[in-house]
Amino acid sequence: MALFVNRLLNMKKIKVIGFDMDYTLVRYHTDQFEKLTHSLALKQLARHYGYPGEVTSLEFDYRRSMGGLVIDKINGNLLKLNRFGKVKISYNGLEQIGYREQSELYGNLAVDISDPRFTSLDTAFAISQGVMFGQLIQLKKEGLKLPDYPRLAEDIKSAVDDVHKNGSLKSIVTSDFEKYVISDPQTALMLERYKSYGKKLMIITNSDYNYTKKLLDYALSPYLAEHDRWEDLFFRVITLADKPAFFKRRARFLRITDGQGTMVNHEGPLEEGEIYQGGWFGQLQEELGVEGREVLYLGDHIYGDVVSIKKTCGWRTALVLEDLEEEMKSLGETAEIQKEIDLLMGRKKELEREINRIDLLYHEGEKTDKKKLDELFAETDKLNQRISDLLNQNKSHFNPYWGEVLRAGSDESRFAAQMERYACIYMTRVADLYDYSPKTYFRPPRRLMPHEMDL
Ligand code: IMP
Ligand code: MG
Repeated sequence: MALFVNRLLNMKKIKVIGFDMDYTLVRYHTDQFEKLTHSLALKQLARHYGYPGEVTSLEFDYRRSMGGLVIDKINGNLLKLNRFGKVKISYNGLEQIGYREQSELYGNLAVDISDPRFTSLDTAFAISQGVMFGQLIQLKKEGLKLPDYPRLAEDIKSAVDDVHKNGSLKSIVTSDFEKYVISDPQTALMLERYKSYGKKLMIITNSDYNYTKKLLDYALSPYLAEHDRWEDLFFRVITLADKPAFFKRRARFLRITDGQGTMVNHEGPLEEGEIYQGGWFGQLQEELGVEGREVLYLGDHIYGDVVSIKKTCGWRTALVLEDLEEEMKSLGETAEIQKEIDLLMGRKKELEREINRIDLLYHEGEKTDKKKLDELFAETDKLNQRISDLLNQNKSHFNPYWGEVLRAGSDESRFAAQMERYACIYMTRVADLYDYSPKTYFRPPRRLMPHEMDL
């Protein structure tokens, strides 16, 4: 698929390309992966957090959550925000909150995500968290004895953390890669091509060494044409990096000394061919010997891989957004419907202007053309009905609960706004870079402002 450009990016000037691993170098079958996380985390809640056994029989419905949603811990709601932080869709448990109640609750509030009352679901890894939150709130409303809303949100997050960190999730994934990991041979070829053009490649992942090794042995090494092992491609490999803290606070690098992941403290400069754990951006950047703007980093985590990097390092950034593929397909399917909606909205605007003109004359003492006014209102009613039907048709092509990832009504979603502001380019998968020469000059399209659209 194509690559999309928010800001000029001259690949000739890029000397170092850094990659996140999970959901960037390696893609997952998200529905399977999150179903597994959901099931393990619910068991964890029952076994170690005192939750009633009933919670373990909840079924996973992938569509109940999506990347970019925000949890309101106080009210127990899941929210979709527009680019101004205004709540556009909200659910309490599994029930959508009506327009009036939503306005009463959130009114003109622009949600500030740094407020600890809110948590945003920033990657595909957080989808199960959103699904569980909705389900458990629902069970609580139906009378099951569960902790209060903020506690529930915290417990779910902790249980997800546990299963990611205690080996229960990873041991299942590594024993059945075929089920959970998408094989994409083109990723290996893309990396080899960029390396052959003299780009220095690096990995900065939050996964630990043992998992990184197993996963890349499976997903990269078999597809290399000019290298034996994935380790030969990268001049820096940093595991368990603890992004976004990696970019903000000073920490020691540890060096992996053998295939089992044994580590020693590392003193002095990082070396090519070695694999590291932890550490911090400051030392890495100093030793790279290049300017921040000569580094491009690709990742899927809108905050940890894109926003925080742009804010703290001055590196160029790319967001890998797997949802884009499905979203573009649905946009293609609904293009004709959208065109008709736009046309009808144009006509509606004309009618409203005409109604207001007649009203103005009446206001100024002139006689009203009642018949004309009735006709205008009747046409507006018909138009509204047609627009509403078309909007429903449109909706059926997207997530039935939340709509598009990148839109909130006619506006951009908060997620889309972050992406536009902080990601220089974006794409569905890193292998999409394969279709572009490593010398490409990526240029953004000319953006139209509202006054330019009316010309
Ligand atoms: P990266 O995307 O390559 O930086 O790595 C992501 C790592 O973070 C993977 O090892 C995931 O298992 C882990 N991870 C993702 N979400 C969570 C979470 O909510 N809690 C703890 N670990 C997580
Ligand atoms: Mg990732």
